[in-house]
Amino acid sequence: MTPLDLANQIAAEGDPFADPPHILQLREDIRALCANFPDAYWRDLDRRRAYPEAFVQALTEGGWLAALIPEEYGGRGFGLRETTAILQEINQQGGYAGPAHAQVYIMGALLRHGSPEQKVRYLPQLAAGALRLQAFAVTEPEAGTDTTRIETFATRDGDEYVISGRKLFISRVQHSDLMLLLARTSPRDAARPTAGMSLFLVDLREAGDSIQLRPLTMMMNNETNAVTIDRLRVPAANLIGAEGNGFRQILDGWNAERILIAAECVGDGHWFVRRAATYASEREVFGRPIGANQGIQFPLAAAWAQIEAADLMTRRAAARFDAGLSCGAEANMAKLLASDASWAAANAAVDTLGGRGFDADYDVERKFRETRLYRVAPVSNNLVLSYLAQHALGMPRSY
Ligand SMILES: Cc1cc2nc3c(=O)[nH]c(=O)nc-3n(C[C@H](O)[C@H](O)[C@H](O)COP(=O)(O)OP(=O)(O)OC[C@H]3O[C@@H](n4cnc5c(N)ncnc54)[C@H](O)[C@@H]3O)c2cc1C
Repeated sequence: MTPLDLANQIAAEGDPFADPPHILQLREDIRALCANFPDAYWRDLDRRRAYPEAFVQALTEGGWLAALIPEEYGGRGFGLRETTAILQEINQQGGYAGPAHAQVYIMGALLRHGSPEQKVRYLPQLAAGALRLQAFAVTEPEAGTDTTRIETFATRDGDEYVISGRKLFISRVQHSDLMLLLARTSPRDAARPTAGMSLFLVDLREAGDSIQLRPLTMMMNNETNAVTIDRLRVPAANLIGAEGNGFRQILDGWNAERILIAAECVGDGHWFVRRAATYASEREVFGRPIGANQGIQFPLAAAWAQIEAADLMTRRAAARFDAGLSCGAEANMAKLLASDASWAAANAAVDTLGGRGFDADYDVERKFRETRLYRVAPVSNNLVLSYLAQHALGMPRSY
């Protein structure tokens, strides 16, 4: 046990915010799973830009990707408090939940808005790992952050919809059997810009040539693509919820997504600070550990405080979500604080490791790139601040 672990254990005794025993056990289980996927595993994948097939398979077999699926459909029936602990722990152990996390939260749209037939048809297979739902196609080249400007269009044709358009930055499509897709079903109305979009569950195994992928070389290994959709036929039975209501349905899921991303950032932040604090305590320059210098200590200590604060907000947001309370402000604050904290920790870790901070063999540079994403995607922190200004502070709408 490191001095940091010991300090945390002491601090957790009698702590009203500490995890209950069943969540501590979940963390233990995830740590055991992650022990089979050490740094070298992630380093090798990152170098080859390869998908973590074995890791995703292990998560699937452990039922962890079915965290939010109710037990009646074969899932774990967890809330966000448990699920945040799972994703946080993966990143805290040096892993990367990014290639798998979507299956956990994309499911939310099906759970909340799917018809009973859709749930019976897909959820047991997803829970059992017979199907993968890893892809979620919203962003478009022209629309960007302004989702109301999407142009991908779905036209009803008898029992089917015919969909054409372009999507950008769509991750994990190659590793998914199903994909959630947001398309317009009626033209944009400036008076009601969020109306007229619909959500579809696309069976990629039946899409044939109507979906073309162009893999993009991104900063981190997320298997991200530009997607062209040309007269894709989707059964009308695969429309999720009511036609025209798609934006509201994905909006519902965004709070959960933000809370889960915040948990991953907290996990990253812990990893950076622990890794750097250990290194700083061992590395000697000028005849003493570099960690004895306040110039090394203070950025790590400050990042640690930021991470702990972000963790508390994430726990609060998850608890409110699970209790069915409004949690828009808390979910957005958790995502903002956690992504800023993990970025502060990443920078402090690179400074602490000096040249080795840039050497892939030390893993900091890989996680530095991975955690950078979360200040921009799935939603940029600018938009999070706009949300808070408008909804928490009552200021005028800025976009
Ligand atoms: C690795 C990766 C994986 C991704 N995976 C997916 C995926 O699987 N599915 C999916 O649908 N999308 C995915 N995305 C897309 C991601 O959600 C978008 O990149 C993000 O929402 C921003 O959209 P944009 O890149 O078009 O930026 P733009 O909309 O062009 O904005 C550029 C910058 O301007 C800022 N900006 C824009 N408008 C305002 C404003 N009014 N006020 C202040 N600032 C503003 C933005 O915050 C951003 O920083 C992924 C992106 C990346 C990088």
